[in-house]
Amino acid sequence: MSISIIFRFKKAQKKIFEKIRRMRWRKGVYCQYCGSFSVELHQIHKTGLHRYKCRNCPRIFSDLTKTIFEYTKIPLWKWFFAIYETGQKSGISSVELADKLNINQKSAWRMLDRIRTSFLKYKPLLKGIVEGDEMYVGGKQKGHKGRCIKWSNKVCVAGVVERKGRATVQIVDYVSEEALTSFVERNVKEGSKMCTDGYGGYNGLNYAGFFHESVDHNREFVRGNVHTQTIEGLWSFIKRKLKGTYYKVSNKNLLKYLKEFVLRYNMRAERPWKRFNYMLSFTLATI
Ligand SMILES: [Zn+2]
Repeated sequence: MSISIIFRFKKAQKKIFEKIRRMRWRKGVYCQYCGSFSVELHQIHKTGLHRYKCRNCPRIFSDLTKTIFEYTKIPLWKWFFAIYETGQKSGISSVELADKLNINQKSAWRMLDRIRTSFLKYKPLLKGIVEGDEMYVGGKQKGHKGRCIKWSNKVCVAGVVERKGRATVQIVDYVSEEALTSFVERNVKEGSKMCTDGYGGYNGLNYAGFFHESVDHNREFVRGNVHTQTIEGLWSFIKRKLKGTYYKVSNKNLLKYLKEFVLRYNMRAERPWKRFNYMLSFTLATI
């Protein structure tokens, strides 16, 4: 399967800059230094890359200036393949990618890291019935159970997810009502219904403009349409992924991985090429 996909990307490499331009300059070519749309074509490189000259500032930039691809020595079709594979069901590890593209593992890891970094810009605004919860990653628990403890080396990840829809997550340094409320405010449309468990950290949500209902897990797990089963499913999906393809993740990189998982989760119902195009659009965003 992936061999024929590799072949398709390799074969299409002559058209790669056309695709990049279609996507990146949707609103027209604009200067990457001053933002002016008053630009002229300066040079067409033999690879198909266009260089432009700004009439305003007047600097020269190209189709790749200020993207994650700007200084790469790896052919772009290999990047495109990496982005495609990142969007597929289980993603791809640097070891697999290195093997498939015949590059070294360090380069493959750097490619995937840059792709993930571009996903940090992914910030969907959720609406409708939304579940909220937190999970804890890493560290060793010593006798204490439950919510993030100040002294523990675990990292707390707050998440929200629409019923049958999209999710978004954020690392929370210190779990408090204030932090969780502000996380929800930034990621969920005001007026949405929020379902959480009985944890007091969400008590401020009604005051913040949400319709908040909770289920106390000591007594019940579902009351009518109030439950947190969707987000529990998301947490187990993420935990499986962290254990599987990505066996070792530093805290610094955790958010990048989480964004990748969430993006893939949110695109789960889409066709492979639609996922690819959507992910590609993040990698072509100006840094
Ligand atoms: Zn300019």
